[in-house]
Amino acid sequence: MEIITSIEQIREISENIRKNGQSLAMVPTMGCLHEGHKSLIDKARKENDKLIVSIFVNPMQFGPDEDYDNYPRDLEADSKLCQNAGVDYIFHPKADEMYPNSFSTYVEPCKQMTDILCGISRPGHFRGVCTVLAKFFSIIRPNRAYFGQKDAQQLAIVKRMVKDLNLNVEITGCPIIREEDGLAKSSRNLYLNEDERKAASILRKSILLGLKEIDAGQKSSQKVLDTIKSNIEKEKLAKIDYVEILDFDTFERVDDIQGNILIALAVYIGKTRLIDNIVI
Ligand code: AMP
Repeated sequence: MEIITSIEQIREISENIRKNGQSLAMVPTMGCLHEGHKSLIDKARKENDKLIVSIFVNPMQFGPDEDYDNYPRDLEADSKLCQNAGVDYIFHPKADEMYPNSFSTYVEPCKQMTDILCGISRPGHFRGVCTVLAKFFSIIRPNRAYFGQKDAQQLAIVKRMVKDLNLNVEITGCPIIREEDGLAKSSRNLYLNEDERKAASILRKSILLGLKEIDAGQKSSQKVLDTIKSNIEKEKLAKIDYVEILDFDTFERVDDIQGNILIALAVYIGKTRLIDNIVI
């Protein structure tokens, strides 16, 4: 496995892979890799001849008050995980390699899909995500790219970008990998102290409570939202950012629970903002 930092070099490597008639996959990440990332890497490894994992903490997707500088970074551990998982190349560019001073072109994602959920509390976030991914896809030109359902809104927005811009890459979504108590694995879980870590299981528990109500025949989104919110509010360390029930195809709020539904939430546990969701 090689770690590549220059755009020119990874472009040349990717071109040679394509010339050899081999399929090429990419798993975009911000590093600090855990079993969630590894599930994407394993699937990509199985389904393709060559595999590039990008490790890039993308400054453009962080707001001014967010944790860009303190975002956890551990290239040594990440390299070991990638090596053991059979990754061929890590692409690990510096921020100024991706965004030189002259940089001034951005990808503006579908407004209907960004004016809700994380797009409200993180303005500009998905613009940063789409811009960096459009660059990666243009540099590497992978046949396939793998994303986690944990970031359901990101996955939907990326699929829409690929469709709208006719990008020649197949986007694959992968299931959420969880801790034993149901908390979705995330690099940000490292920020939680012992009490907060215990409290954080409230996200999944509350979604499951809502699901139980739906399974028992509840059709009113408002009723299910009330159940989920009041359960989260019982946890002293938790503060709700949003809880939403949407049509997963249109991203519109729904009154009645029917069809393809996304229940998504973001909750602060102490100062750490965690997300989770379920598609039903
Ligand atoms: P990140 O490094 O947080 O940008 O995540 C990189 C990719 O890994 C994204 O597609 C995430 O959705 C995915 N991912 C992160 N955590 C998980 C998880 N617990 N289960 C599945 N995929 C995940």
